[in-house]
Amino acid sequence: MSDQAVDYHQMWADLGLDLPTHDALLGAVGQLFGDAYLTQDNRPAGMDYLNFVMSEVHGLRIKELDDFRKSGGKVFGTFCLYVPEEIIRAAGGWCVGLCAGAEFAYDQVEQIMPRNTCALIKSFMGFKLAKVCPYFESADLVIGETTCDGKKKAYELLGDLHNVWVMELPQMKREQDMAAWRAEIVELVHKAEETTGNTITAESLRAAIIEVNDKRRALQRIAAACAADPAPISGKDRLLATQVAFYDDVPRFTQMMNALADELEQRVASGEGVTPKGAKRILVTGTPMALPNWKLHDIIEKAGAVVVGEEMCTGSRYYQDLVSESADTVDDMLDDIAAKYLDINCACFTPNDGRIEDVVRMAQELKVDGVIDYSLQFCGLYEMESHSVETAVRDAGLPVLKITTDYSMEDVGQLATRVEAFLEML
Ligand code: SF4
Ligand code: SF4
Repeated sequence: MSDQAVDYHQMWADLGLDLPTHDALLGAVGQLFGDAYLTQDNRPAGMDYLNFVMSEVHGLRIKELDDFRKSGGKVFGTFCLYVPEEIIRAAGGWCVGLCAGAEFAYDQVEQIMPRNTCALIKSFMGFKLAKVCPYFESADLVIGETTCDGKKKAYELLGDLHNVWVMELPQMKREQDMAAWRAEIVELVHKAEETTGNTITAESLRAAIIEVNDKRRALQRIAAACAADPAPISGKDRLLATQVAFYDDVPRFTQMMNALADELEQRVASGEGVTPKGAKRILVTGTPMALPNWKLHDIIEKAGAVVVGEEMCTGSRYYQDLVSESADTVDDMLDDIAAKYLDINCACFTPNDGRIEDVVRMAQELKVDGVIDYSLQFCGLYEMESHSVETAVRDAGLPVLKITTDYSMEDVGQLATRVEAFLEML
């Protein structure tokens, strides 16, 4: 962001970024971060690390990726939870998330794809077309996945601009789907080995499974602390932790998030919270919120409530399940990886009852006062699934508010009015 001590312009230019446009993006993200994050009171001290990460999000972390690549390492860009980070790391590669959460260069995007495409897809295509994402430009290989139709077709367009490889994801969870998915995992092993020039061994795969599990365990601790009233951390801060999990150095991030979790557990023990006890508690479910999409959380928390959980890919779906650590052979570990990943409850699956069950269970465990179901406009999958979510939440005796929006700030006032009315009714 703006006041970096080191000037990274040469590194950005070497990556092929459009410097004036990139400067404008960093400035806007810095402003957004300041407004949403640095205005919060009583944040845990452990958030200093994530503030620092954000201040260097296109600086120091990109420099680390650059140094890694100069020493022969390969960086893999991913968009979706279904690409197993364990396999990339076992081959010696590093993963970075490329989902984008800001409206950018839509004029260029709409020249190659329909206007009524979801904001997440338009955003990552905009970042690519406008040459403003150093993560994109650091990725030696971008791995897509056949989740929704929009993404599938977007990867074809992206293939003209970058080195892209797509994983075929089944859309049901039957035995034959698992067999097909297991075969696709093996294909990923080959692709990762071919890209990095390294062979995946039982030792490297076991180490990667434990390393990624440790990251998820740290996030689970942070999530679990939010069952307390008052919640020891804001939803915005917790969301940021999950967003950064897709980019940061894995062992360092795990260490820092465990330190944050220690602090949160101490806060819970002493009854300290970010909001007064009794503040309205909200569970948010729906489409992922990629960095820097903090819009809904900001609205909810500025209205005096606290988001205590996210049933979404930038939330519980990312960290709630671990890969088994009991296998000894590569084959058995790949079975465990295939099983863990096919169990993620994305709306691209039919049926997707597991997601509905998770929403109700989380709402009860976190003792929420209400649920907000969040869909990105033009996301047919989550918008269609919304009815089932709402019915299940109401049947569980909880109020639910459905919100459909995009990344623009034009509807912030209107959304704030709806959220405030919902909170008053709780
Ligand atoms: S919502 Fe579905 S398609 Fe999107 S990141 Fe999550 S798993 Fe992938
Ligand atoms: S939000 Fe919906 S339409 Fe957009 S990429 Fe995700 S699943 Fe596809």
